[in-house]
Amino acid sequence: MLRRFAPNEYLASAIEVDLQALKARGIEGLIVDLDNTLVPRYEDEPSEELKGWLQEVARAGLRVCIVSNNWTSRVAAIASELGVSIVKGAGKPLAKAFRQGMRILGTRPAETAVIGDQLFTDVLGGNRLGLYTVLVVPLSDKEMLHTRVLRKLECRVLDALAKRRMISSDVG
Ligand SMILES: [Mg+2]
Repeated sequence: MLRRFAPNEYLASAIEVDLQALKARGIEGLIVDLDNTLVPRYEDEPSEELKGWLQEVARAGLRVCIVSNNWTSRVAAIASELGVSIVKGAGKPLAKAFRQGMRILGTRPAETAVIGDQLFTDVLGGNRLGLYTVLVVPLSDKEMLHTRVLRKLECRVLDALAKRRMISSDVG
């Protein structure tokens, strides 16, 4: 039960992910969440740091697709500024959200990693399809109401995972 929520890695932020280690395990493409993973929820401008990281990702030979449950024009604007493909209004944790991302990336599940800040959308959905999942600490605590409600439950699951040493407890 708890296992389906356990990410393969838990990091302080997306840019800390070890790109070479992902390549070494056969990962070819990244499905990356947008809000509070790449950009704080209520900001429109991607940071220079993020742009630099995306260049590193490309240099490492990894493809990227943003898969976001957000459906607004802001999401498309950010993706186009970053020059990255996007699936918006994706419906994570539903499988179709991740399948659409993999279709764009041209990857199979074993070649795909998910990076995101939410257990119940990014990690649960990715795990169910057998993708390599990376949970990151959210970039900001400003969130939509339904996300704030889910965060309370998420906190309890994270505690339970940490107690069982299924994630490192020194990150969040
Ligand atoms: Mg998010």
